Amino acid sequence: MRNNDLKPETLAAQAMGHIDETTGAVTPPIHLATTYERAPDNSYPKGYIYTRNENPTYDIAEELLARLENGADAMILASGMSAAVAPFLTLRPGDHILAASVMYWGLRKWLIGFAEQWQIDLDFFDAGNPETATALIKPGKTKIVWIETPSNPLWDCLDIAWFAQLTHGAGARLCVDSTCATPVLSRPIEHGADIVMHSATKYLNGHSDVLAGALITSKDDDWWRRIRRVRSEQGLVIGPFESWLLLRGMRTLHLRVRKASENAQAIAEHFHNHPKIDSVLYPGLPTHPAHEVALKQMDGGFGGMLSLRIKGGEAAAVKVAANLQLIHRATSLGGVESLVEHRASIEGEGTPVPSDLLRFSIGIEDAGDLIQDLEQALATL
Ligand SMILES: *Cc1c(COP(=O)(O)O)cnc(C)c1O
Repeated sequence: MRNNDLKPETLAAQAMGHIDETTGAVTPPIHLATTYERAPDNSYPKGYIYTRNENPTYDIAEELLARLENGADAMILASGMSAAVAPFLTLRPGDHILAASVMYWGLRKWLIGFAEQWQIDLDFFDAGNPETATALIKPGKTKIVWIETPSNPLWDCLDIAWFAQLTHGAGARLCVDSTCATPVLSRPIEHGADIVMHSATKYLNGHSDVLAGALITSKDDDWWRRIRRVRSEQGLVIGPFESWLLLRGMRTLHLRVRKASENAQAIAEHFHNHPKIDSVLYPGLPTHPAHEVALKQMDGGFGGMLSLRIKGGEAAAVKVAANLQLIHRATSLGGVESLVEHRASIEGEGTPVPSDLLRFSIGIEDAGDLIQDLEQALATL
């Protein structure tokens, strides 16, 4: 069968069907070389020059990501933050960025400092009222519109197609942080996004043991080539071993994401009307304000991320987290093991996150075991 006829799940499981030409090995090799031989005429017949530009270990992971997201090309980078900052590093003083008020807090902090240092004009629209973006976009001047969906940690969903129309009408590009949706559940390029970004540290790798980032483009154009230059010139490259581990992790992406989504849905439904819980924030619940948008642009589940607002405020939330025995207290998300975090205390002063909120990254354990752990922790209140 031709590669083009195959389903994403098949391509992922078989790492694009790679068989090593030299040895017949069914897993791809790791190329540690930093430099490649020139031909006598000084050309590079195999296309590789130096590992800060390109490393053959990246190739299959990048091809697979481009296919999973239905994009024209993909690039993997040293971390999610490297992937997120690379498009912004192509801007010039006076350019305008419009970003959602709710997004990965590390990127929000970086954007504020970056805009200040380089005289870049930056506005945040209210992610709870996305129409506010209409009044803030500046046709001709806005270069990048940045959204994250579903977004941390309230799991609101922004309508990608609506944002694509607004963004393109102003001559700007739409970038979507799709870390929590994954290409299994949502493919933003199919809804009009120009660039999709992932912290591949999370679901793409899935085992809490690799730091990595990814960008996927809808078009292999000048802007994309400038972003590629940012990666090589600033050395935002991932190590060959990490890139190999990332591809290994992606081979089970579909199974992991579907199981985590099923577990999160079961937990959301179980705790929905629980006497010790004020609200369950999960886009898979019909009562969640984002449910309709989620249905429009996600299929096969609503992801493994959910938040619980605990009755009794911050002290009660912190106590529940302290009494969990199976679910680990740790930051990050998207791994096979379930994690919990009290985000307000992590983000510190000025955080918009409610203090009674616990964020859960639901893993692929038995749903009943996870529910039981939560029940026993809630019983300590
Ligand atoms: C973790 C995360 C990032 C940052 O990625 P790193 O791999 O930690 O650099 C960006 N966006 C989202 C949504 C994340 O969860």
